[in-house]
Amino acid sequence: MEDTMAYTNTTVIQAIGLTKDYGDGEAAVHALRDVDVAFEQGRFTAIMGPSGSGKSTLMHTLSGLDTVTAGEVIFDGRDITKLNDNELTLMRRHDVGFVFQNFNLLPMFTAEQNILMPLTLAGEKSDREWFDRLTTTLGLTDRLRHRPNELSGGQQQRVAIARALITKPKVVFADEPTGALDSASSAEVLGFLRGSVREFGQTVIMVTHDPVAASYADRALVVADGRIVRDISDPEAAAMSELLTDIRDLKTAR
Ligand code: ADP
Repeated sequence: MEDTMAYTNTTVIQAIGLTKDYGDGEAAVHALRDVDVAFEQGRFTAIMGPSGSGKSTLMHTLSGLDTVTAGEVIFDGRDITKLNDNELTLMRRHDVGFVFQNFNLLPMFTAEQNILMPLTLAGEKSDREWFDRLTTTLGLTDRLRHRPNELSGGQQQRVAIARALITKPKVVFADEPTGALDSASSAEVLGFLRGSVREFGQTVIMVTHDPVAASYADRALVVADGRIVRDISDPEAAAMSELLTDIRDLKTAR
């Protein structure tokens, strides 16, 4: 698994010996067991694995949403496991964008206000050119005055992607971004995520259980039982699907 560990000068995030337990003693759940992994800039990575394998925990510890039990997470050159709450808040605000399964838009605000919210909260001015480019690329220009309940699921997720990209974050984390969408909207949303990698050099890390969604990524990591058990370049849907079935069968057989 040297490939997983490789540090290059374009590495944006690296986990070293990343370990996360929930609870302690006999009742402890070992959600992540000594994980070493590096993510390069401008790549789209899918994290897959059976339910309960540690995917969300990996995403939450890499993005500073959750604390670690042991190990380091080097984000853009600094170990974020050592940051205090205030520093973590600033780091998440500036350097990380999040896309969630259920969009998490604020219902009282228009699409435009939602997209600009990270800047509003930080008291920062928007870069109008970037806003226009994002909303044009995402096909949102005639939806900007709509509130979330006036938009389809796919449109809401496109608003959420624009919101995630508005601060030009170092990394976008997407947690089952197509989990609540039909297949046409899913394809659209995944196409935009991949487009942000290709066109803007965005780094995207996406948790998904869907092998078709993973096939949009440049790389797929497969997590099982708190460990990365596969690191695959240019994943294909059929092969990923087979691999996941094999891993599930292994688990049941044990
Ligand atoms: P996945 O995202 O792959 O479904 P998770 O990272 O959510 O897996 O969970 C990994 C393991 O950690 C599971 O056994 C889960 O039950 C456990 N776990 C996750 N969050 C908590 C928590 N807050 N408290 C206790 N156990 C947890």
